[in-house]
Amino acid sequence: MSTTTTIPAPGNLIGGAWQPAISGQTFENRNPADTDDLVAHHAASDDRDLDAAFAAASEAFPAWRRTPGIARGNILYRAAEILASRVEAIARELTREEGKTLKEATGETMRAVAILRYFAGETAQPHGEHYPSASPTTMLYTLREPLGVITIITPWNFPIAIPAWKLVPALAYGNAVVIKPASDAPLCTIRLAECLVDAGLPAGVLNVVTGSASALGDRLVTDERSVAVSFTGSDATGKHIRDLAGAHGKKVQLELGGKNPAIVLADADMDHALTQVINGAMMSTGQKCTATSRAIVDRHIVAEFTERLAQKIGALTVGNGLDGATQVGPLINAKAADSVAEQVEQARGEGTELLVGGRRLDGDHARGHFVAPALFNDVSPSSRLGQDELFGPVLGVIPVDGMDEAISVANNVRYGLSASLFTRDLTRAMRFVQEIQAGIVHVNSETAGAEPQVPFGGYKGSSSYSREQGKAAREFFTQIKTVYLDPSPS
Ligand code: ADP
Repeated sequence: MSTTTTIPAPGNLIGGAWQPAISGQTFENRNPADTDDLVAHHAASDDRDLDAAFAAASEAFPAWRRTPGIARGNILYRAAEILASRVEAIARELTREEGKTLKEATGETMRAVAILRYFAGETAQPHGEHYPSASPTTMLYTLREPLGVITIITPWNFPIAIPAWKLVPALAYGNAVVIKPASDAPLCTIRLAECLVDAGLPAGVLNVVTGSASALGDRLVTDERSVAVSFTGSDATGKHIRDLAGAHGKKVQLELGGKNPAIVLADADMDHALTQVINGAMMSTGQKCTATSRAIVDRHIVAEFTERLAQKIGALTVGNGLDGATQVGPLINAKAADSVAEQVEQARGEGTELLVGGRRLDGDHARGHFVAPALFNDVSPSSRLGQDELFGPVLGVIPVDGMDEAISVANNVRYGLSASLFTRDLTRAMRFVQEIQAGIVHVNSETAGAEPQVPFGGYKGSSSYSREQGKAAREFFTQIKTVYLDPSPS
């Protein structure tokens, strides 16, 4: 039996009003750790709701654009404080809708607070540059101006941090937003929007539309009132959006998958490397684009390292994230859990040795979408397990002979999001930083992590060569106006 009650979700936010879908339809959202726990009903929107959202955003944009950045920043500061005061309640809801542990959910919600604070501060930073002119009387400078209405499409795996790191800079730089969160976890986007509304965000500047992408159709990406699309999600959807949005002349930003390596050299601090590699692979149940999925380990230490990895991974406590003892939560839904278990079976079928985990869990776990954290030994770098993103709690060990082979194996995938190296040797660390094809590089820390003040994004197939967060966010969410100002033409 569930010990939690269904949350009365307020519906879509359109033009400053919370409202049901025009169709009156809703869809339900259940706790992936306990499908008896009905978390909420959300508005099942269609293109009529989207039409209203784009209309509201277009109407609100001119006044928001003219609002001084400092005033926009003050709203973001207030929203940060409101969100900080609600962290405990929202983190519980995050755990119920997405499954990650309460500790992780609390950290993620605090990250959204940090994002609000950072971009509130950014609104007071210089947003242009002054240049010398060839003309003695001309003042020559640039301004950063907002783009207009932005469409934001987010995944379920960081249901408050990813919406925050897209919509907060979009708003800070003066854009209006229509956001569609993933149907598996829309509640946190709603909670973030509530904080912004309570902080005084003008009606229509931010609009939230929930529902399935298939019901909303291509309009989400093609509506002519929106000038740009920022998307985080799967490769296939990202490519579809890139092509469609590109064909409609929009600016597009994509954050896609990863196959992130952690290289462990023979001189590494083994205890530290073990903890970091396991955290990188198993936190968030491996469901993050920065998760570690390949441990590339020097042959001199691989036997001991692998044995200790297997022992520790096998001892992880899997369960409901609301339970304080849980270290690894469920997969997001039955399809995801089945897919991970199937890919594990496939790899075994191809002859790769499974040391621990990998099976759907039943018994006490039968009401949730659980897969036991898995470790594969001696993975072939060119196999599917060595190349494809699983998006689950599965780690493969790849033995290598030294640094050169490690870097070559690490780079030989289509992705390039994040990468780690564990060593005590500074020269090797410097070489790794130079040679690795990844947008985010760690030395002696796990592959995951995203502080708001620095750029986030990947090389190769992991991104669209744009970056999110920090000063880099300004590149996507603004455009440059160059001003030749001559006050005394003669
Ligand atoms: P996942 O469901 O695993 O997060 P997706 O890439 O399918 O990965 O979904 C990420 C986001 O993109 C979700 O909000 C989803 O509803 C949305 N989405 C899926 N398909 C489309 C599409 N064809 N057009 C626009 N958005 C889409």
